[in-house]
Amino acid sequence: MKITIDLELCTGCGTCEAVCPEVFELDDEGFARVIAEADCAEAGCCEEAADSCPEEAITIG
Ligand code: SF4
Repeated sequence: MKITIDLELCTGCGTCEAVCPEVFELDDEGFARVIAEADCAEAGCCEEAADSCPEEAITIG
């Protein structure tokens, strides 16, 4: 499972981290990054986080 964050769309709102901190976090520059891609399937919140992104910046495929 591949998670892609389009940093041109990401505003650093933090929703993905709030919904699924096991997989997403904001980096030092305030934009989202994936910290545990391999765990997306097990985390149980990964797709919810993608659906919750207001910019639709997260793609899971
Ligand atoms: S929810 Fe979307 S816009 Fe907000 S920090 Fe995460 S990737 Fe960026």
